[in-house]
Amino acid sequence: MSKKKITVDFRFRDKLNKVQGGKHHNYCYQCSACVAVCPAARFTKNFNPRIILLKALLGMEEELIGENSAIWLCTNCYSCYERCPQDVRPIEVIISLKNMAVERRTAPPNLTKLSENIGKTGVSVTVTSAVRRMRQELGLPELKDIPIEELQTILGEQEPQIFQEEEKNDK
Ligand code: SF4
Ligand code: SF4
Repeated sequence: MSKKKITVDFRFRDKLNKVQGGKHHNYCYQCSACVAVCPAARFTKNFNPRIILLKALLGMEEELIGENSAIWLCTNCYSCYERCPQDVRPIEVIISLKNMAVERRTAPPNLTKLSENIGKTGVSVTVTSAVRRMRQELGLPELKDIPIEELQTILGEQEPQIFQEEEKNDK
């Protein structure tokens, strides 16, 4: 029976090392403490932070930042950050991977639309007159106008930061 060989893709790992929050993946020793506290792993068998870290250690680029990656099932709850004995900060590694996927344009279309909406309007859902009316009926305060130009300036400044360390190192 032929055995499937696994080759570590160090090129992808180098790339991940240079993304903000990515380099801590190197410290993972696969203990599974993060899995024990992960609500997403409890909810679905398709997501497991230890496996995400294992794939990062193996440099499995397509599995991690290709289309339909499991990374998008993470709820960003930060429980794993607290629990990991190795200071891997799994959530931050996952956010780095998400940022890489966005750069590659492989993020789920609904999330891309959501973030575009935030960039344009400052909110994730459209605030219609019906929403405003309902808030009034519920006794909720009026929504404040969002300083959209300030937000767009911040977002514009944030955009190139993903590979900032790489750029610095290249100089
Ligand atoms: S990320 Fe931390 S808690 Fe999770 S398997 Fe690796 S070392 Fe263990
Ligand atoms: S941040 Fe993500 S990976 Fe970490 S415990 Fe929460 S859902 Fe799981």
